[in-house]
Amino acid sequence: MLRDLLDSLRCPRAHAESWLVAMVHRADGPFLIDADLACPVCGAEFRIIDGTAQFDAAEPGVRDEALDATRTAALLGLSEGHLPVLLSGRYAGTGAALGELVSLPQVWLNPSGGLPAPAVPRSALVVRERLPLGVETLAAAAVDAAHASRVMLESIVRAVRLGGRVLAPATVPIPDGLRELARDDEEWVAEVTVRASGLVELRRRAE
Ligand SMILES: [Zn+2]
Repeated sequence: MLRDLLDSLRCPRAHAESWLVAMVHRADGPFLIDADLACPVCGAEFRIIDGTAQFDAAEPGVRDEALDATRTAALLGLSEGHLPVLLSGRYAGTGAALGELVSLPQVWLNPSGGLPAPAVPRSALVVRERLPLGVETLAAAAVDAAHASRVMLESIVRAVRLGGRVLAPATVPIPDGLRELARDDEEWVAEVTVRASGLVELRRRAE
């Protein structure tokens, strides 16, 4: 498939027209040979195999057991910028591949499985109860089950900028201030619609 066609590809699922995020694994000049495609609206995944984009696979939504960076980037709606994306626990394992898609800085929260991929501009935090970041300091956040306690999730949500997205396990209720965009059996993705207030107590004390 010609690389130029990427901009014209749309998710075939039944929802508003959406472009697809691509992670290219192999290319030959202007031709894409192997690539993963993912929809930022519904999370559907497709592949370019041997130069052919496959939209007709029996179950395009079925995922490998390992987390998929292309899908994660798509669901988080990531684009270039200076605010970092938070990858908690097992999502930190997608950091290197995700870094190939978007050059956002990354914050890895309690990364499981060591700290590979020094090529990615990332900060690692080891935290027990809540995320020690201020209001609107993150572009988006991927929250795994180990970080979906109410206190931790709320501290993560308040750190995500207005309009930024949060990806979390389907079993967890969506906190206030978020609007659901999509969900499947495993995860939901939602957008921050209310600006959290920050440093209010400190200001009061200073008066
Ligand atoms: Zn879709």
